[in-house]
Amino acid sequence: MVDSKSASGSEQSAPARWIELADRPSLQVRGEVTRFPVGRIWCVGRNYAAHAREMERDPERRKNLDPPFFFSKPSTALVPGGGPVPYPPRTNLLHHEAELAVALGRGGRAVAADQALGLVFGYGVGLDLTRRDVQAEAKSRGRPWSLAKGFDASAPCSFLVPCSRIGHPSQGRITATVNGKVRQDGDLSEQIWTVPQLIAELSKEIELLPGDLLFTGTPAGVGPLLVGDRVEARIEGIASLTVEITAPA
Ligand code: MN
Repeated sequence: MVDSKSASGSEQSAPARWIELADRPSLQVRGEVTRFPVGRIWCVGRNYAAHAREMERDPERRKNLDPPFFFSKPSTALVPGGGPVPYPPRTNLLHHEAELAVALGRGGRAVAADQALGLVFGYGVGLDLTRRDVQAEAKSRGRPWSLAKGFDASAPCSFLVPCSRIGHPSQGRITATVNGKVRQDGDLSEQIWTVPQLIAELSKEIELLPGDLLFTGTPAGVGPLLVGDRVEARIEGIASLTVEITAPA
């Protein structure tokens, strides 16, 4: 059977490739069969005042002088829906950071803040797992954070809830619980930069694409994880996510 597109010559068949790459990872969408494919994972640094203080920065100074700063994780770091996460190699200080995850269904460049929510597909909760000792050394030596933040399985993320169902939450309790004990306890309303502001700022740096996932920073109370720990990240009214830290791969 001849495909009408190739017959018309408007589209060539895909060229042969030297290797096969795995499909992009994807997230479940609550109540739907169709999944959300994840392209890139963007993260924002210190976005809650109390966490900025625990990381020894003055949030007021930041807000007045500096735009938010971003880093990224590869999409292969995604752990869709949580589950086992092997303790990463070459670290002695793995930290949890519970974060609101924003999934973009549309892209854009230099998006105005008052248009930014139009890009959003939905929301979930993620864990920005961090090799804190590696990050501290990178900071002190002026080196990149890539391997402190973007290691394998560093981005567990829950199912998504479409904004068509829950709107665009700007408040809601966000917690991280380790073995039943609350470690992080904040509220989305404490974010220094709001979701529309973050989208607007990031879109000045790069062209946002459909499938981008944005981790929006973590409240105070980050702390260490050990093999055997069970971490639950939760945002009330949105989603929850459970991860078990297992022996190194
Ligand atoms: Mn983070």
